[in-house]
Amino acid sequence: MIGNNYLKKYQICTRCVMDTSDPNIVFDEEGVCDHCRNFDLNIKPFWKPDENRLEELKELAKEIRKAGRGREYDCIIGLSGGADSSYLVHIAVKKMKLRPLIFVVDTGWNLNVAVENIEKIVKGLHLDMYTEVVNWKEMADLQLALFKGQVSFQDAAQDHAIFAGLYNYAVKHHIKYVLTGSNRSTEFIRPPLEFMPLNDVMLLKDIQKKYGKRKLKTYPMCGIFKYRLLYRYVYGMKRVYPLDYVVYDKAAAEDLLHREYGWERYENKHYENVFTRFYEGYYLPKKFGYDTRRNVLSSQILAGMITREEALKILEQPAYDPEQMELDKEDIAKKMGITKEEFETIIAGENKTWRDYHNTMGLILTGAKISRKLGIEKRNLR
Ligand SMILES: [Zn+2]
Repeated sequence: MIGNNYLKKYQICTRCVMDTSDPNIVFDEEGVCDHCRNFDLNIKPFWKPDENRLEELKELAKEIRKAGRGREYDCIIGLSGGADSSYLVHIAVKKMKLRPLIFVVDTGWNLNVAVENIEKIVKGLHLDMYTEVVNWKEMADLQLALFKGQVSFQDAAQDHAIFAGLYNYAVKHHIKYVLTGSNRSTEFIRPPLEFMPLNDVMLLKDIQKKYGKRKLKTYPMCGIFKYRLLYRYVYGMKRVYPLDYVVYDKAAAEDLLHREYGWERYENKHYENVFTRFYEGYYLPKKFGYDTRRNVLSSQILAGMITREEALKILEQPAYDPEQMELDKEDIAKKMGITKEEFETIIAGENKTWRDYHNTMGLILTGAKISRKLGIEKRNLR
C-alpha cells in the first residue's frame, strides 16, 4: 500500500464520494474532504458555468487568425473523438472561424467508435487531419515495461505519446496556437498524483531501461523543461482553452455533435480505447484500490449535476463488465506478445510507486505548487 493512509481506517467524505483510496486525502471535523473545501475556497467563487464570454472569445479568435495569416493553418487541435475535443473543434470552426489542423495520435488501441467520431467531425467540417502513428513495437515494449515495473500509471505510455506528439508537431511546423479541450467546467477533482503522475520523461525512460527490450527511437517525448520553458518562451507556443469561454453543458454539446455530425457517445468517460478501459476499469481499482469514477462523480456532485446518493449507487455497480474485462485482458496480453497467464502473474506482483525509479516528480510538484500560487491550477495537486 501507498501513502499516509496505510494505517488509517476507512473514511468517505460526507459531501462527495472521495474516500481514503486517495492516499493523501484529509477530512475536517465535519467529515468533509479537502477536495470539497478546496472547491468552496478556490474554485466556486470563480466558477460561472452559465456565463458566456463570447466577446473575449472573439478577441482571442482574432489574435489566433492574425498569427496564422499567410499560413495554411492558424492553430492545431488534438482530437481524440471524445466529447470535449470534438466539441472544441466545432467551436473553433463555427464560432471562432479558425482554420485548425486536426492532429490525431494512433497509439494502437483506439476503439472504432473513437476513430469513426474523428472521421465524422473532420469530414463534417471539411478539415485537414494529420495522424501520427506511434511505432507499435516501441509502444508495446514500453507498455509491457510499465506493467513489469509494477507501477500504477499504465496509461502514461499512451498519454505521453498523445501529449508529446501534439506539441512536438506544433513547434516543428511553426503552428503557434494549440487549442485544448481541457476545461474547468466539470473537472474539479483530479485523480491523485500518486497514481497518475504528470508527464515525467525521466521516470518513463528509467522503467523502460530496466524492463524494456528495445530502444525508444521514435516514440514521441516531451519533457517538462522542453514543454514549459523551451516551447513556451523560445518558440512562443501558446496553449488556449476555448471551452472555458462558452457555456459548456456536456449533455447538450453531445446532442449537438450527434445531430450535426452523427457523432456517438462512449459508454463511459475516458473509455475511448481498450487499454484505458482495462486500466481504469480493472487494473487501477483492483491492484491499487483507486476507482477513477470517484473523482469524476465527486466533481459532478460539486457541480450540482447529480446527488451523492446517485453517485454511491453508480459506484456499487462494477465499472466494467467482467466478461469484457477477460476478453480485453487476453487481447492486451496478446498485443504485448505475452500469454494471458504471464500477464496475470505480472499483475499479481508487488506494487511499486514512482519513488522506486529515477524521476523528476520533485520538480514537477514544485511547478504544480507554483501554478497553484499563481492561480493557474486551482485543483488539489498533491
Ligand atoms: Zn469531498
